Formats: sequence, structure tokens, C-alpha cells
Amino acid sequence: MIDKNQFRGHEQVAYFHDKESGLKAFIAVHDTSLGPAAGGCRMWPYANEMDALSDALRLARGMSYKNAMAGLPLGGGKAVIIGNSKTDKSDELFKALGRSIESLNGAYITAEDVGMTEHDMMTIATETDHVAGLPQGDNDSSDHASGDPSPFTAKGIYLGIKAAVKYKLGKDSLEGLTIAVQGVGHVGQYLCQHLYNDGVKLLVSDIVQENLEYAVEHFNATVVPIDEILSVKADVLSPCALGAIINDDTVPNFNVPIIAGGANNQLAEDTHGIRLMDKGILFAPDYVINAGGIINVSGEAIGDYDIDWVNKKVDNIYNTLIHIFERADQEQRPTNVVADEMAEEIIANAKIS
Ligand code: NAD
Repeated sequence: MIDKNQFRGHEQVAYFHDKESGLKAFIAVHDTSLGPAAGGCRMWPYANEMDALSDALRLARGMSYKNAMAGLPLGGGKAVIIGNSKTDKSDELFKALGRSIESLNGAYITAEDVGMTEHDMMTIATETDHVAGLPQGDNDSSDHASGDPSPFTAKGIYLGIKAAVKYKLGKDSLEGLTIAVQGVGHVGQYLCQHLYNDGVKLLVSDIVQENLEYAVEHFNATVVPIDEILSVKADVLSPCALGAIINDDTVPNFNVPIIAGGANNQLAEDTHGIRLMDKGILFAPDYVINAGGIINVSGEAIGDYDIDWVNKKVDNIYNTLIHIFERADQEQRPTNVVADEMAEEIIANAKIS
């Protein structure tokens, strides 16, 4: 069900229906005060148009906040395609989406998200230049392509964990700490490498046996069953698999002082941030700690890709999180609420100047 409040702050929402290819998509441009609206394209079998629109609005707003907190000269937007990514894809469909994006004259820049592949992005790029996150060395614009975002996302999470450990536990080093990582996929594996290098004892869980074996072999990790990883005793829990893992069922069982991981939308509801605060658990807001990937992609979206610029922005995730933790403590409010407010302030200031 769509709520009129979901449109709050949105500058433009467009529906594109291309009868020939079957494309049905929404593009939501939430805010462009900081720069063109950037955010991934998602392909999902939504039950109906209203569900797709609701998701586009929610995700576009989230991208405005994420880009603002990452210090990027980008606003927030999102494209959603209604369709099954396994059965409904065609080059014509993605070309039609490319023409739709082109018709917005640069107000929206797309990138890969759930259900999309690099190949799909390259097809979109045949119709518009407003595409970021193209594979390196594989296309005409590869000289400034940013490639796989996961290592950058993982580095940001690693630095975010260090910030949380410094703030909550008063430690400058992670050596000897126990960190539980839920999901050792792309991001989880790169993260484990950083943590292992720092002398962390790793507890890992995954539903894919091969990924577990990799973590055991390369990072000396201990495997924890998937139904125990969220209640295991550790210094940090780092969710790197699924969203909504902080919910009514899991909150009472958390056995950690810190939750800091890369999965998107970890709080099932915003109010679960209050529950964590009441329990004395320091939560690193997910869209702040996992911004390394979008920072890397933005290095491409903004112009000539500059790795030093990207690294500086990723490194700053540490400071941004410390600011959030301090303000949340001073105001006795949950970190997720404080992060949203800080993002809104950055956007409001950009509108004034
Ligand atoms: P991925 O699919 O490579 O890895 C996810 C891993 O989680 C997989 O190994 C999967 O088997 C595992 N998993 C799934 N269900 C599980 C469960 N119930 N218990 C334990 N493990 C489970 O994805 P990724 O690119 O590593 O991204 C991980 C998370 O980080 C996602 O939520 C993603 O949205 C978010 N994220 C990723 C990036 C990026 O740069 N890749 C950027 C920002 C946010």
C-alpha cells in the first residue's frame, strides 16, 4: 500500500511503459540538491505497479541519505523494473530502459542493483551515458570504469568496525577481538581478509558451503550454524548477508556490544534502533558504513575515475561514524535516527547555498 508521505521530498517520479519490449519501470528522483540523483536499478517481480512505485520511492530517498552522508556530490534516485530477472530479460527491454533514463537528461544516473548484471548495464549504456559501475576493461568507457565495488564496501565496513570498537570499547586495535560475520559472500570475504590481517578471531556463517570452506581455509574462521550466528557471544556482529535481521525475534538474543556490517536495511523497523540503544548495543547505521561501494561507483559517475579521491572518501567513513555515535550519545537518541537527520541537514544546506 502506498502512503502519500512516501512522496515527501521527491522531485520527480516517472513511469515508463514500452509496449514493444514489455518494459514497465519507475524512476524516482528524490533530490538533486547535491548533484544528479544516483542509485541502482533493481529488477524484481513486484506483485503490482503500486508495490514497485513504493519501493522506488523508499529506495530513492535512501540513496539521497546515503550519498549525502558519504560526502558525495550526488543526489538520490532509483529505478525499478517490474519483472522476473531470470525469465523476463531481453536486450530490447534494457535498451528501452536506457532511452527512458536518457529522456531524464542526466537528472538520474543508474548502476547495478538486485537482479541486474554487468551485461545488462552495458546494454543500457548503448542508449545513454548516464550509467555507472560498468566493468573495467570491457567497454568503450573502460578508461574511467570503477569495476567491482565489493572491496571498497568491505574496506569501509572494516574502518567502521574500527570506529565502533574505538568508541564503544576504547580500543585502537582489533587484535584478539572476536567478530561474527553473517554471510561470507563478496563483501564478507573481503571484510574477513582485513579482520584476519588485524588478528581477529572470526566466527562465520553462510548458507553456501563453498564460501564457508574458503573462510576456514584463508582466515582460520570458525563456522557457526546459521540459526546461531545472531545470538553468538562476540565483540562485534557484522551482518553481511540479508536485510531486516534486527527484528522483534533477534533483538532479545543479541550477545554483542556492537553491530556493524554491510547488509542493506538491517533494521526491520526504525524503532528497532531504539531497542538496540536501550540494550546498550552500538549500531553503525548500514547506509553509512556500507557506502564504500557507492563511493567507488561515484568516482566513475562524476568524471575521471581517481582512486585517491575514492580512498579518501572511503577512509572518511570512520570519522562520519564517530560523529554519529557522539551526537547520538549527547542527544540520547538512536544512531539510525541521528544519521537520517544529519543527512537531511546536509541536503537542506545544499539547497540554501
Ligand atoms: P553476496 O550475495 O555476494 O553475499 C551474501 C552472502 O550471504 C552469500 O554468500 C550468501 O550465501 C550468504 N547468505 C544468504 N543468506 C544467508 C543466511 N541466512 N545466513 C548466512 N548467510 C547467508 O552479496 P554481497 O555483494 O557480499 O553483499 C552482501 C550484503 O551487503 C547485501 O545485503 C548487499 O545488499 C549489501 N551491500 C553490498 C555492497 C557491495 O558492494 N557488494 C554494497 C552495499 C551493500
